[in-house]
Amino acid sequence: MTSARSIYRGRFAPSPTGPLHFGSLVAAAGSFLEARVRGGEWLLRMEDVDQPRCSMAAAGEIVRALEALGFTWDGEVVWQSRRTEAYAAALEQLKATGRVFPCGCTRRELADSAIAPDGAAIYPGTCRQGLPQGRAPRAWRIAVGDARVSFDDAIQGRTVSDLASEAGDFILLRADGLFAYQLAVVVDDAEAGITHVVRGADLLASTSRQIFLQQCLGVPTPEYAHLPVAVNAAGEKLSKQTLAAAVDCSRPGAALCGVLEFLGQQPPRTLADASVTAIWTWAVENWQSRRVPRGPAQTGRLQNPSG
Ligand code: GLU
Repeated sequence: MTSARSIYRGRFAPSPTGPLHFGSLVAAAGSFLEARVRGGEWLLRMEDVDQPRCSMAAAGEIVRALEALGFTWDGEVVWQSRRTEAYAAALEQLKATGRVFPCGCTRRELADSAIAPDGAAIYPGTCRQGLPQGRAPRAWRIAVGDARVSFDDAIQGRTVSDLASEAGDFILLRADGLFAYQLAVVVDDAEAGITHVVRGADLLASTSRQIFLQQCLGVPTPEYAHLPVAVNAAGEKLSKQTLAAAVDCSRPGAALCGVLEFLGQQPPRTLADASVTAIWTWAVENWQSRRVPRGPAQTGRLQNPSG
């Protein structure tokens, strides 16, 4: 794999915590089309770093669903669960910057902390200057200091974040010994030479943390485009937690056309009866990114409304 930055290299990075549902199909299709329309590569990465929440069965189901829907990816599937050494090396590199510190706080001790916009507790800084006496390290965090991160999202526009008030010193290595998503995604995107990240707007709040880590590690920052997130009638993101139904792969045309409509494209009615190859040919020829609805969430016409 080359690391040349002149090419377009995108990816789809599902967490195999359940089957492919409409919301993740939106991210798959949007990232796939952006890559193919620009003659770029599209990689598939299974984000199974959070092993207790993931299963091989769900990963297998996702791969089979993508195949049934006519997706084709470049290279082998990358598995985060097999990349622990790369994350450990990145953590060592970050330790050498002096920004990373061990934290002995329990979840209960942090329960009264301020809450970040994404619902996570903002770390109050208890162990930042050193572990209090008698405390054993549980997790490793990175000190964000007064870092401000700004980036221009191709869909959501300019985003400016003050990391101290919006995220706080965040975890890189969890108390259960697993590496955190924020570190894993940055290491993986950098190693794969990802130039463009197209994913759901539910991850918009994570992007500034990821850009901060890229800066600390001295790796390039990709371009970002955050697609509107599919929500149900109650405004909840479609996910396993909200019981989103698995994409019905016995009717791939209907599923793909539903996603194209959700992304603001205007597939002809008859396209749903065409083969997946014909649908992707139409989609690549007619894809217009400016038609993708702006804004972080929309209900649209859902093929698989949540139960
Ligand atoms: N694994 C994440 C998810 O399924 C996506 C991460 C990403 O695209 O950066 O929500």
